[in-house]
Amino acid sequence: MTRQQTSELALELRRSSALSELLQSLATAKTAEEICQAAVQSLVSAMEANGAAILSFGDDGAPQVQDWRGVSGACREAVARHVPWRQGAHNSKPVFIREVASDEGLADCQEALEREQIRALAFIPMSLDTGVLGAFLLHYKDRHEFTEDEIRATQAIATPVALALERRRVADALARAERHDLAGHESLHLAAIVESSDDAIVSKDLNGIIKSWNRGAERVFGYAAHEAIGRPITILAPVGGMEDMRGILTKVRQGQRIDHYETIRRRKDGQTINVSLTVSPIRDASGRIIGASKIARDITARKVAEREHALLLEREQDARRTAELLNRVGSILAAELDTEKLVQAVTNVARELVGAEFGWFVHNAIDEQGESCVLYTVSGGPWEAFKDFPVPRKAEIFGPAFRQAGVVRSDDVSQDSRYGESAPYIGPLPIRSYLAVPVTSRSGEVLGGLFFGHSMPARFTVQQEAVLLGLAAQAAIAMDNARLFEQAQWAQEELKRSNEELRRANQDLESFAYSASHDLQEPLRTMAVSSQLLQRRYGGELQEDARQILGYIVEGARRMEALILDILAYATAAKYAEGPSPLVDSAQALGTALANLKGPIEDSDATIAFEPLPSVFVHENHLVQLFQNLIGNAIKYRRREAPRVYISAIERDGWTVFSVVDNGIGIEQKFADYIFGLFKRLHGRQEHPGSGIGLAICQRIVEQYGGRIWLERSVPGEGSTFCFTFPTRA
Ligand code: ADP
Repeated sequence: MTRQQTSELALELRRSSALSELLQSLATAKTAEEICQAAVQSLVSAMEANGAAILSFGDDGAPQVQDWRGVSGACREAVARHVPWRQGAHNSKPVFIREVASDEGLADCQEALEREQIRALAFIPMSLDTGVLGAFLLHYKDRHEFTEDEIRATQAIATPVALALERRRVADALARAERHDLAGHESLHLAAIVESSDDAIVSKDLNGIIKSWNRGAERVFGYAAHEAIGRPITILAPVGGMEDMRGILTKVRQGQRIDHYETIRRRKDGQTINVSLTVSPIRDASGRIIGASKIARDITARKVAEREHALLLEREQDARRTAELLNRVGSILAAELDTEKLVQAVTNVARELVGAEFGWFVHNAIDEQGESCVLYTVSGGPWEAFKDFPVPRKAEIFGPAFRQAGVVRSDDVSQDSRYGESAPYIGPLPIRSYLAVPVTSRSGEVLGGLFFGHSMPARFTVQQEAVLLGLAAQAAIAMDNARLFEQAQWAQEELKRSNEELRRANQDLESFAYSASHDLQEPLRTMAVSSQLLQRRYGGELQEDARQILGYIVEGARRMEALILDILAYATAAKYAEGPSPLVDSAQALGTALANLKGPIEDSDATIAFEPLPSVFVHENHLVQLFQNLIGNAIKYRRREAPRVYISAIERDGWTVFSVVDNGIGIEQKFADYIFGLFKRLHGRQEHPGSGIGLAICQRIVEQYGGRIWLERSVPGEGSTFCFTFPTRA
């Protein structure tokens, strides 16, 4: 789930709990003030506003802003002038001003608003059938875009508040009237109460003919008194509601009273309304029942509010369930690195989330023909039921999920003309409602698709679609992680294997070199000794050319011996590299190398200079060998002038990079790699003695530590720079 979706969900939860709290406080509120206070509180929290106020109408009908905490009187007056409706106005709609500064209508109070740092405003009417009773005012410190959800929330709040206020007013009026009654003048006052009541108060005779009709009845049922009196009460019966009325009359005739009976009646304009009836028999002086009085209260608005409340509760429960499920899957996703288990968990939770009968995940794996998608996990049905699925990519109904074209939702696939052709592909499953969501990785690659089905039509909603998209995004991240983890594991195993291979190859080489040096040296020695013996004993008797040939044999044997020693040196060069390497002061290693090179340095009159050098993790003799080979070469491959060699080191990304710079003959760039090969040389033995093994040994050593050696730069006739690396840390 994206961060935005999470916060939207949280907001929705907050809003619905604000509303249910409000409905509770309204049920217990004792005064109009308490009602207003509860309303303001829930509006502020449902709308995330910075403050709120109540608008009421004075006796002269002028709007007044009350309880606007922290806002100056001048500002209140300025805003009160802009209340968008008059007292009692009908069809009033809330007014939202997202940016006060760009609202021309508010030009004269902009300064006042600015002083209070108010940038956005909302006027929300409280109204009933009688029109606007009052209103709420919300303000924001920032510009505010009012969303559809917010606008709906304001209405959901305003209606029950208006009802509660009105009920309070009537109750207060009745209580006042009752107090008056106790004072005596009963019938006069009673008539006044009946006339002023908001409820319909009607009397009828035993035949159901209307005898009296107060102003409340005019308002509730739409008939004027002169239109109603003398006509049968059944004019108020809704279609099919006659039985109900007859039943009431029967009870009245038997002297029974009916209390708060909720039913439906029809107004003059044909509209049906919900009413709560209280009917009592009227008796004459002798106690005989002569008719009935009936009080009808219009409870249509209450019914609407109740329905809204139920709907809200349902939505709240839905949101809670979604949050819980997402929470559950969140912890699974975070912990699971096995792709199969992961996908199974996602498929299960997602199926529960949308209330689908079937759920399945299809992997976007591509075979050689570039066609196949692999059915991966199923939920809510036996695997066999899914197993005959055809290649889904081809089917128009599955395709979009794989092409990142987004969600496909169909209320009834079997009737959906878009997918008529493909519907049979759903094959063995009796699916009508259908929902498909792509699971897309961070890199934009479609990893697969989540599919859901239900045998009943129209089971999946837009909201579910949005939640699923959030879940799919979360799942994609987890799948990416699992894949990376699998790859890393694979790479690690691969590395282990190739290390093992290298170790074995090294061992082979070493044992070959050992046996070669032994086995070869033995006959070689015989050859060398014999030819030297021949030279010494019979040299004088031999002719000039025979002596020369003998000389070649002696020289050849000696070179062969040197070569064998070189191979042995090469094979064993990295011998001590196994096991942990100690920390070695490279300046000290350089010192040893220079001492070993004392002869050539003095003979060539070479200058060796170096910077302070760091410590590195390497076996000391290996580092000595590197310095010795490279500096030895720098002196050997010199020009006419005296050699100058410069050694330095820098640290880069956990590696120490050493460079050895000389002013020698240089190397053509095309030989940069070649010279590191075994026995590879660029010169004849006469020109420069050597066997071409020095750089190969250097390379073998550094590679044992995971390091590298290379010819950094070289210009023939000017000099060369060789670099090599060793790890800075163990
Ligand atoms: P060897 O020195 O025994 O020939 P190396 O493996 O040390 O073997 O060097 C391989 C070849 O690289 C040398 O024959 C030489 O041609 C070239 N080379 C090595 N170091 C230098 C250098 N500092 N300057 C010029 N050429 C060099």
